[in-house]
Amino acid sequence: MRCLLVRVGSKSYSLASYSKITGQMVRTSSSSLSNNPLVTDKAFIDGKWVEARNKVTFEVSDPATGDCLGNVPDMSASDTLKAIDAAKKAQRGWAATPLKERSGMLMRVKQLVDEHSEMLAEIMTLESGKPIAESRGEVKYGNSFFEWFAEEAKRIRGDILLHPIKRDSRYLIVRQPVGVAALITPWNFPLAMITRKAGAALAAGCSVVIKPAEDTPLTALAMAKIVEKAKLPSGVFNVVTCSRSNIEEVGDTLCKSKDVRKLSFTGSTAVGKHLYSLCSSTVKRISLELGGNAPFIVFNSADVDNAIAGAMSSKFRNTGQTCVSTNRIFVQSTIYDTFCSKLSEAVKKLKCGPGIDPTSSLGPLINNRAVIKVKEHVDDAVSRGASVKVGGAPATELGPNFFHPTLITDVPKDALVHRDETFGPMAAVTKFETEEEVIEMANSVDVGLAGYVYSSNAAQIFRVSEALQFGMVGVNEGIISSELAPFGGLKESGIGREGSIYGIEDYLDLKYINLNF
Ligand code: NAP
Repeated sequence: MRCLLVRVGSKSYSLASYSKITGQMVRTSSSSLSNNPLVTDKAFIDGKWVEARNKVTFEVSDPATGDCLGNVPDMSASDTLKAIDAAKKAQRGWAATPLKERSGMLMRVKQLVDEHSEMLAEIMTLESGKPIAESRGEVKYGNSFFEWFAEEAKRIRGDILLHPIKRDSRYLIVRQPVGVAALITPWNFPLAMITRKAGAALAAGCSVVIKPAEDTPLTALAMAKIVEKAKLPSGVFNVVTCSRSNIEEVGDTLCKSKDVRKLSFTGSTAVGKHLYSLCSSTVKRISLELGGNAPFIVFNSADVDNAIAGAMSSKFRNTGQTCVSTNRIFVQSTIYDTFCSKLSEAVKKLKCGPGIDPTSSLGPLINNRAVIKVKEHVDDAVSRGASVKVGGAPATELGPNFFHPTLITDVPKDALVHRDETFGPMAAVTKFETEEEVIEMANSVDVGLAGYVYSSNAAQIFRVSEALQFGMVGVNEGIISSELAPFGGLKESGIGREGSIYGIEDYLDLKYINLNF
């Protein structure tokens, strides 16, 4: 069942938006999503659009307005087993598909995503709250993985070694797909986290069972629509949707199944650790892309304006809800006041509003729990002596899930934000004196995903970027993700790498064959 959705003024926006005339939230009865051909209320298993076995559904809502966007199947263990079975049956045929043909099908998916980019962006913005310009950017970024891995499918290599003793013998080393891969993805990049995994898995010859986040299943199902149009064989790409009430049993089924040989998970460190332990029962290959707590270090020699631009994009993109978001800004003492005052001016220019409104630079947070968490981080820092320079409170006038873009300064190093990801639009600045001091503070967390360094001193750049215990470091650069670069973290930020020439390795097993003639 689908809900009636919104119309704003004379514009036929999707479900919900705001009336700029009255300043009030309005609900009317039209929706461009209701005409969006990629929107569905069924899950995708074995090439068919299916309900949950018990017919139960759950609602997907717009975090900007709370309006219902639709309902999708609330699947359980039995549905998940059906998807695993379909993926298992399809996998051998897929792996045997000639490389050029497999690559061609992935390229067809890429072309279809391009053709449907506006529809995908709209779905993403409505279900995740992301500003529409960022959703358009995510479609391009996400699709770059299908393009990249369509090419990489043709470059899976092996080796032949001479036998060390026997003249006519050889050692043959081949790479083979691991088999069925389960892909569990988060809501903050509803499309790119699927394509970054599925692009590599499918290129390697694996079939996939995808479990998208409860908050953003419509984008995952829209991708399944595209895969169907691209005519990938049935069972190669499956999407199982479920609500938080069923996630334990669906997660258990994926992790404990002997037929699933690989789990790739992106999400919180806490859930990642839990899934890691579940996967031990079948000794599965595992990739974990987990949380971060990125330091953003600005040395006295830095170009301050460039550092401000980098801090703004790495902190406030997706309303601060990215794993590589700057969490702790460290600024050296000589430029501290200038930096804080310029950052304050930049933060004041941000505009909070529904993502579907193209003038919004920040959308809502994913839900009210996220708003509460940001407020806790602000209050904790203030209670320890920090000052609020901009914002600092929920934007309740816009709705329950909005938070004003916030800047706090003089944040002490025992503040909560120095230990925990805020995952929201709060920039927290701390002053430092020496290089040694800042490296120690930056590395003092258990996670190690992304870090940023701003300096014009070449020797310092090498020293600091190599000393940082983070999997990715941006030097004088605030946007670091690319399909060419290996994405992943150190320490408790995870295991494995996505994208790049290394990403496909996570879906390939090495086999050695001793050839004796
Ligand atoms: P999350 O709560 O860990 O959820 C991620 C996914 O795991 C969702 O699909 C979720 O389903 C599912 N899940 C939750 N409990 C599960 C269980 N017991 N068994 C199986 N699956 C389970 O994380 P999130 O809040 O959605 O995402 C934000 C986190 O992801 C942040 O920490 C962020 O840093 C991290 N992240 C990391 C990367 C990276 O590449 N390193 C990229 C993006 C995000 P439900 O939606 O139903 O709960």
